[in-house]
Amino acid sequence: MHHNAPWLDTTIVRYNAQVFLTGGSLGHLTKKISSALKTLRQERGWSLEATSLRTGVSKAMLGQIEREESSPTIATLWKISSGFNVSFSSFLEELDTDNIDVRCSRSELTQIHPLDDKIRVMPLFPYDKNLGFELFVIELLPGCEHLSPPHQEGVIEHIVVSQGEMEVLVNGCWQPLKKNDGLRFKADKPHGYRNISTKSATFQDILHYKEH
Ligand code: MN
Repeated sequence: MHHNAPWLDTTIVRYNAQVFLTGGSLGHLTKKISSALKTLRQERGWSLEATSLRTGVSKAMLGQIEREESSPTIATLWKISSGFNVSFSSFLEELDTDNIDVRCSRSELTQIHPLDDKIRVMPLFPYDKNLGFELFVIELLPGCEHLSPPHQEGVIEHIVVSQGEMEVLVNGCWQPLKKNDGLRFKADKPHGYRNISTKSATFQDILHYKEH
């Protein structure tokens, strides 16, 4: 982990890392992300080159994701989401937005990428385009430090801790949070989440998007 030059180093390391998946529980996710990416490129008429310029993800990596040879890390998937100006959860789950009354217990907390081995993500309420928000349940295992690139302009995160203790990096400062503490911050800047305790921590993260 790079504690001094936080997000930059880590993002670059993760972004360059190419881990090839061999099916298993992550295979399903790899397929979903690949098809979502192909559909988006087709809809926008963006070449790999144009997509690379807008997302900051290399053409080689984008190609590997589309061919299901590689799955993006959380940081890379955020770059792709931001470049297309779509929500993060749109790559993971669909939400039937015609129906307001839904009971969501859709999936388990999932490891998105082998390199993101201490963080589990579940889109409990995937992005709703009418309401402009998505809600994740996120678990940080002990020792997890997850640094995020900036999200789209105007994205605001609301964090509520439901179990354990954690810290959130906002404006270059780690803020300690315990159970039932909440924190709201502008997420269109680099930020991060970490668990320096010896027990797992779980929080809810509501992301509100400016344009919807
Ligand atoms: Mn974030």
